[in-house]
Amino acid sequence: MSEVRVRFAPSPTGAPHVGNVRTALFQWLWARHSGGKFILRIEDTDQAREVENGLELILDSLRFLGLDWDEGPDVGGAYGPYRQSDRLEIYAEHARQLIDKGAAYYCYCTAERLELMRKHQQARQEPTRYDRRCRFFSDAERAAHENAGEPKVVRLAVPLDGKTTLHDFIHGDLTIANKDVDDQVLLKSDGFPTYHLAVVVDDHLMKISHVMRGDDWVPSFPKHVLLYQAFGWEIPPHGHVPNVLGADKKKLSKRHGAESVTQFRDDGYLPEAMLNFLARLGWSYDDKSEIFSRDELIKLFTLDKIEHAPGTFDHSKLEWMNGFYIRQLPDDDLVNRVMPFLERAHLKVDRATLLSFAPLLKERIKKLDEAAAMVDFLFADELEYDPQLLIGKGMDGTSPLKSAGSSTARAALRAAQSVLEKYSAFDDEEKIEAELRAASDHIGMKYAQFFGALRVAVTGKTVSPPLMGSMRVLGRAKTLHRIERAVAALGNG
Ligand code: GLU
Repeated sequence: MSEVRVRFAPSPTGAPHVGNVRTALFQWLWARHSGGKFILRIEDTDQAREVENGLELILDSLRFLGLDWDEGPDVGGAYGPYRQSDRLEIYAEHARQLIDKGAAYYCYCTAERLELMRKHQQARQEPTRYDRRCRFFSDAERAAHENAGEPKVVRLAVPLDGKTTLHDFIHGDLTIANKDVDDQVLLKSDGFPTYHLAVVVDDHLMKISHVMRGDDWVPSFPKHVLLYQAFGWEIPPHGHVPNVLGADKKKLSKRHGAESVTQFRDDGYLPEAMLNFLARLGWSYDDKSEIFSRDELIKLFTLDKIEHAPGTFDHSKLEWMNGFYIRQLPDDDLVNRVMPFLERAHLKVDRATLLSFAPLLKERIKKLDEAAAMVDFLFADELEYDPQLLIGKGMDGTSPLKSAGSSTARAALRAAQSVLEKYSAFDDEEKIEAELRAASDHIGMKYAQFFGALRVAVTGKTVSPPLMGSMRVLGRAKTLHRIERAVAALGNG
């Protein structure tokens, strides 16, 4: 096989959608698997749809996932330029070649005429397509339009009969009757190519060995095949990769929640998890394996395992996978990754404290953005207590005691305090916990109530990371200080 050269060819119209990035990932994996090249080409010929930081959003998404490119607008390469707006002369020249061969023609129809034509076709319930008026002009008619200096476009002269077939390596043969194919515009009157001309010319000139695109592009295949044939070029293997659908089996869109890779990054998903998850959307190695590292994916990825059926974007599976990868992270690495999220939440983080808390944290979060709410108690100067939380269900904090040593929050906190005071540090979690249980027994309280009150006193919350570990990391002084303040918050009743 000659060198594998695959390309990701996004248009800078916004943050890349996970579906497109998944297709890019397949191409990148194929390049890396085969020791080939992954090329980034920016398809910016539809300037009306372009957004200002479009290119940055694309580069950011690829960088986040570690999909490095060998040739592209920023790194150059032997087949540049890699931005289509810098290649206009190339497209114009190729359009001229087609005109010279009679495979394309100039069309002078005005927007008004085309609109009227479309309306008539609709009224007759015919498919709307160009009626080929200019294709069959006599030389004199054409010369008249030329001499009048009218704006013109270049259209593909689609064969009037026969059929066109693409051998798709995912879907098998795709065939259409040529009579059903429109005489597509190739070059617009402003000199910009349409997607169809630009993509075919560039894939050929850049020596792309495998063209992969989402299967929402299937309707374009005849235009591309006919263009290859008109130029007399060999058609590289093409594969339409199944789309990514939401859980409701509709094409993934904003309605399903986040849809751009950078949004997932900002929500606290790890690139390792995202990469693994995206790889499984439309590709499977066998019927059981879910977890694949980057290296395993590179080793195992082959085109024949791309599935025909669309991949379903299952958010709960992504969360599960992300939690899995978070638990695998070394403590130090977790701290580094979580830090920007804690800064975003304005926490005054002490790195050493966070590091000793990392083993507890990684068991408790599925996304990095959940960390702030899990660790904020460690870095708060003082907690504000809601007495209702301290008292908990079935307890009585303010009314007179029902009986000596009865189940009150204050009794629980005082009992916990006298246990904890005896220790200079809380490292021996098991021993301290056993003593706290004994203290709870001693005052006749249920453990849930006893530890519930203590948890709220120490963390300010009813749900928190494991209590004993939290107290160990928080340290003796802060823990006891908080218990004292919690008792005060309960009042004297
Ligand atoms: N520029 C097209 C897009 O934005 C590329 C499609 C293709 O890969 O041919 O998806």
